[in-house]
Amino acid sequence: MRSTGSWYEVRTATGAMLQCRLKGKFKIKGLKVTNPIAVGDKVVFEIEDENRNTGIINDILPRENYIIRQSVHKTAHGHLLATNLDQAVLIATLNFPRTSLGFIDRFLVAAESFRIPTVLVFNKLDLLNEEQIAYQQELADLYESLNYKCIFTSAVDGIGVDEFYEVLKDKVSLLSGHSGVGKSTLVNAIAPNLDLRTSEVSTFANKGVHTTTFAEMFELSHGTFIIDSPGIKELGLADMEKDEICHYFPEMLEILDECRFNNCKHIDEPNCAVKEAVMDGRIAESRYFSYLSMMDGGDNRK
Ligand code: GDP
Ligand code: ZN
Repeated sequence: MRSTGSWYEVRTATGAMLQCRLKGKFKIKGLKVTNPIAVGDKVVFEIEDENRNTGIINDILPRENYIIRQSVHKTAHGHLLATNLDQAVLIATLNFPRTSLGFIDRFLVAAESFRIPTVLVFNKLDLLNEEQIAYQQELADLYESLNYKCIFTSAVDGIGVDEFYEVLKDKVSLLSGHSGVGKSTLVNAIAPNLDLRTSEVSTFANKGVHTTTFAEMFELSHGTFIIDSPGIKELGLADMEKDEICHYFPEMLEILDECRFNNCKHIDEPNCAVKEAVMDGRIAESRYFSYLSMMDGGDNRK
């Protein structure tokens, strides 16, 4: 459920919490990460001290998926953030603060690369005028057409809050979004007893500062879990090869074999099926711009 670095809080099958340590040194196979175990891992443990509720983790079960936060130094090992996720839920706001389409698309591409389905939650509906509501609907239509479920919410007015809970129900979800989008408020609206350290992480104090933060899992209700990762607003693309990126745009993936060159980068090559699709509106311009900005490399985090 969470860790302090050397202690791991393990939720047992009966829902009890156990403070565990890892047995000896764990070999980290395959992954270039600094931490051997992360939130979401399913483990085999034994009770060490029944009175103190402590245990020893003997083994980690095979993972269905995982997300890694890459170090800014590409050569260094990344940080294993969470494992065994059913979905990522990206909370976005058109305004206050503005979540850019570039940010949304980068998040979706990273999630696709980890094979994690994503739901988009557009919060603060109450702050939008009619024109903005219409624009937001267009965006939702676009993302729904790409198979990303979209919902609209207003945490303060209680709009869409039931639907938000339905999205999370019986699943393990990573909750993400810029600070200030209303993540804590939304969670509080469906689980008032859960103390998602609201103001603590959502102030500007944390912005841009790379503090050591650990992801944490919370049980909203029986079988419904969320993973909160303060300080981590985006999933990294750092490790991704340039030619891989188009594979994580579902609308590009399905026509890639129609490009004349099989190493087409879909930028200035002739007979490029992707560019043709952009020209005739089958691929949204905003998505193609996001693609170009990711291909442009560097640190395109705005
Ligand atoms: P977090 O950083 O994503 O956890 O954001 P918070 O939940 O702390 O919310 C940031 C601010 O936005 C707070 O002042 C909330 O009251 C406000 N807020 C959250 N949701 C909504 C909403 O749907 N509408 C409006 N108008 N304000 C909201
Ligand atoms: Zn092409």
